[in-house]
Amino acid sequence: MDNGKSILYIVPTPIGNLLDITNRAIYILKSVDFIVAENIKHTCFLLDRLYIKKRHLYVLNQYNEYKKINYLISILKQDKTMALVSNAGTPLISDPGYKLVYECKKLGINVTPLPGPCAAITALSASGLPTNRFCYEGFLSSKRDKRIKQLKSLLYERRTILVYESNHRLVELLEDIAQVFYDNRYIVLAKELTKIWENIYGAPVNELINYIKKNNLNIKGEITLIIQGYSGSENINYIKALEIFIKLKKLLPLNVSLSIVKSIFKIKRNILYKNFLNKNK
Ligand code: SAM
Repeated sequence: MDNGKSILYIVPTPIGNLLDITNRAIYILKSVDFIVAENIKHTCFLLDRLYIKKRHLYVLNQYNEYKKINYLISILKQDKTMALVSNAGTPLISDPGYKLVYECKKLGINVTPLPGPCAAITALSASGLPTNRFCYEGFLSSKRDKRIKQLKSLLYERRTILVYESNHRLVELLEDIAQVFYDNRYIVLAKELTKIWENIYGAPVNELINYIKKNNLNIKGEITLIIQGYSGSENINYIKALEIFIKLKKLLPLNVSLSIVKSIFKIKRNILYKNFLNKNK
């Protein structure tokens, strides 16, 4: 470790199985001047289990993140080292820390990341779905209207989609996916990863809902969903053009609507109209 220099270490911690802590994470947690934790009790429990003598601890969570930054930065500036940990997994990934890292970078304070556990990546690696291109969506909104909008924007996403969800909203989310992704999309449920009751099960969404209900999998445990990307043959640009055309046609004369869509999407008017008629047969 670099002594006498301000460094913020980003330290991932296990998402269930304690053996997943890395040697380097233990070393850093032992040697830094301060630990910044999402939850003191949670982190003290981890430090006890790792036989790490308590360091000076500060709390940084979603409620105080903005208020605490200046104070933490002022400490770091005194040539101190700090480790940022969350309750589980990699800090900043649907966890606090972004603002702190942003400010450190802005001020030229060294930020050193450690590799380690992350539920989304762990789930993806065993999902059997394409891993070459994926997008991480974190938690979708808990408000249904907003969630439906988010899902609609993901409908034609060709990359594998990674989503976190709490157990009590799981079935609700899957039912929304089934409704918006009308193609009975294949989804992998990764539950309790690295723990005793680990369960990784993939099925088309309608089948998955039945499986979850039958096995009461929505009652407890931590859940990550890996959603197959869109594999249809329709061109996304074209689908958008048709959607906009349908909306315009309700407000404007047919010819004007066709011309507007043609000028934006560079799609021939007759092709657009023929497909519109086909869709509305
Ligand atoms: N920063 C963490 C990471 O790197 O994975 C994620 C934090 S986020 C607040 C917590 C969510 O991650 C849970 O609600 C669940 O969706 C997912 N998660 C965490 N641990 C998990 C596990 N053992 N198995 C499956 N999903 C898990």
